Amino acid sequence: MVLAELGGSISRALQQMSNATIIDEKVLNECLNEITRALLQADVHFKLVRDMTTNIKKIVNLDDLAAGHNKRRIIQQAVFNELCKILDPGKASFTPKKGKPSIVMFVGLQGSGKTTTCTKYAYYHQKKGWKPALVCADTFRAGAFDQLKQNATKAKIPFYGSYTESDPVKIAVDGVETFKKENCDLIIVDTSGRHKQEAALFEEMRQVAEATKPDLVIFVMDSSIGQAAFDQAQAFKQSVAVGAVIVTKMDGHAKGGGALSAVAATKSPVIFIGTGEHMDEFDVFDVKPFVSRLLGMGDWSGFMDKIHEVVPMDQQPELLQKLSEGHFTLRIMYEQFQNILKMGPIGQVFSMLPGFSAELMPKGRENESQAKIKRYMTMMDSMTNEELDTSNPKLMTDSRIMRIARGSGHQVHEVMDMMEEYKRLAKMWSKMKGLKIPKKGEMSAL
Ligand code: GDP
Repeated sequence: MVLAELGGSISRALQQMSNATIIDEKVLNECLNEITRALLQADVHFKLVRDMTTNIKKIVNLDDLAAGHNKRRIIQQAVFNELCKILDPGKASFTPKKGKPSIVMFVGLQGSGKTTTCTKYAYYHQKKGWKPALVCADTFRAGAFDQLKQNATKAKIPFYGSYTESDPVKIAVDGVETFKKENCDLIIVDTSGRHKQEAALFEEMRQVAEATKPDLVIFVMDSSIGQAAFDQAQAFKQSVAVGAVIVTKMDGHAKGGGALSAVAATKSPVIFIGTGEHMDEFDVFDVKPFVSRLLGMGDWSGFMDKIHEVVPMDQQPELLQKLSEGHFTLRIMYEQFQNILKMGPIGQVFSMLPGFSAELMPKGRENESQAKIKRYMTMMDSMTNEELDTSNPKLMTDSRIMRIARGSGHQVHEVMDMMEEYKRLAKMWSKMKGLKIPKKGEMSAL
């Protein structure tokens, strides 16, 4: 994901600064120059970047910092806060409530990813216990109904549309009525797009909105337009009461930073980002956890959400307890591998933590990763309880490794590979030691 590059550059700049013996003005300036370069490359508006560095310099007055203060921490915190400021529109959006019918209308240009995003949004809420339904009021694009139908069927979400009716307002109204009767609590109306902003599109949007009275209008935009997102979001906001924005294709474009910051500048809350073509490549967008993750500091609230979603309820307290003790044994690794195999996307859980999944579960190579996990588990099946419960890798002497290889029908070097993987995870896990698991929305410890 391209944003990871931006995050990587910023955290490298911070890390380099941390490596310096003394942090003086020169070191601070070098660090800020690196960060400036990274943000400009991600197409963040020059003025925002300039304001950000000016503010950081104001906050971090090196001469004034009393001896004993942790300058690095103050600088990192200032960078974190300023990035949050750039991305925070200072406004929350309407959130649908379960059990009460909400109508959510999607608008956007053709090709922005609107139809795909409607299904992702429905699917996300379905997994969380809503009863969503999809209405295709896009009569402009040939094939729009078929596409929505196909996506909805795949996700087992009820849908409504017509091959013969050409009036989008009528379809929208009929669809909403149908699903209200069926007690759906999240009725999603997909509207027509156009290749560019034009009067006919805005007029149609206004009519559909007037007839269906949506609780929320979501504007979908493609991140590749970068800073131009500002004008596009403004234009849509002026025509219809846009209450939230979803920025798509954040997986493929270097301009993602520009799009996100430009949308924030229009004071529109971005609620989700699209990170791929698949149904579950869709992330909640919450500024603080997003910036935490961008800077490689881990996304605690996302992590907690995922833990609740995929780790069996009875295992959750124990896992969290072990996490805060920084105590990582081969048995914990085994149990988490079991979860990965059972739940499939648990790789996403650990991708919320810095450094965890990139190597173990590279995106797009899930099958290979699953085979590797199964191999590791067979080897662990040949371990004794003592071996599984220790967090001291020194216990694993050559003779033990040979025994495990023989017992599991694997090569010695494969067992050694597995131990390397364990050590890598244990090292990362140890960073969690003593951490208070923050409440939702709080930033992680720096
Ligand atoms: P619409 O015309 O706005 O309804 O756009 P579609 O939903 O048909 O999407 C246009 C193209 O963008 C399709 O090929 C989608 O698979 C693709 N797409 C949508 N969202 C994303 C995303 O987040 N990432 C990537 N890589 N592709 C996406």
